[in-house]
Amino acid sequence: DWSLKDFDIGRPLGKGHFGKVYLARVRKPGAESFVLVLKCLAKDEVASKGVQTQVRREIEVMQQLRHPNIIRLYGWFHDSQRIYLMLEYAGQGELFKHLRKAGRFSESRSARYISQVSDGLAYLHTKNIIHRDIKPENLLLGMQGEVKVGDFGWSVYAPSEDSQRTIAGTLSYVAPEMILGQAYGRAVDIWALGVLTYELICGAEPFGADNPRTVQARICRCELSFPDFVSINARSFMHKAKNPAIHLLLVAQSSNSRPLTRLSLSTHLMDLDLLTVI
Ligand code: ADP
Ligand code: MG
Ligand code: MG
Repeated sequence: DWSLKDFDIGRPLGKGHFGKVYLARVRKPGAESFVLVLKCLAKDEVASKGVQTQVRREIEVMQQLRHPNIIRLYGWFHDSQRIYLMLEYAGQGELFKHLRKAGRFSESRSARYISQVSDGLAYLHTKNIIHRDIKPENLLLGMQGEVKVGDFGWSVYAPSEDSQRTIAGTLSYVAPEMILGQAYGRAVDIWALGVLTYELICGAEPFGADNPRTVQARICRCELSFPDFVSINARSFMHKAKNPAIHLLLVAQSSNSRPLTRLSLSTHLMDLDLLTVI
């Protein structure tokens, strides 16, 4: 029951793959006036790129999520040209933008972000959802500087851990099991969390290279080297996030009908050392 005339459109906040993202305010008679974000998706582009399923899943997945570290979807509507997602506004924008400005973050600042992202992921994973596109462009900061996971366009259900084979997401964040065409599950998000940790602390991608083939090769070899300033705890955390044994542990915890709760993931990450530097 929403349409474009129920909103005042404000400034553009970002560019998506299928259209712009705008700040907006509700001005529906009877409805409380509040600020939100409209993510516009051009129907012809969605159709020509064949991603209708992804858009449908983005909406369906986000609708069921309620977590302080995940962008809330309030509703959606469409007209003849576009689909509009009504999203919670993250007042400080992309984590990526802040990272580029700062160059790199201190380990304690990084640890704060990483623990919030992992809280969000642990919640997602209890709902059998894999995000598959964790990276600084898709992590947004709220007014208090809290992280909120956004952009569920690549998300997918994990009904069984071995049903997924598609290579999804962004090359430098893709897990080796995906590149190798193996079955994969929620652990690909944990891998991405490790890559994210590196990028926040070092200000550069861990497997960066001039051409995509080399990036893939470095990922598959788990070739990690750290600048001198990276602490032992942080190194250990990143090594564990890429370790397939840790992947398996997480998968085992979640398929053992012992749900991977927020607590168990945080406790688990405590084991992973980095959080001890907060
Ligand atoms: P795409 O699926 O096309 O990548 P995103 O959902 O990632 O689109 O949105 C594109 C950009 O718009 C983001 O990288 C960010 O800069 C901005 N943006 C998206 N959602 C929000 C939001 N809820 N609050 C603030 N900025 C946002
Ligand atoms: Mg995005
Ligand atoms: Mg997307």
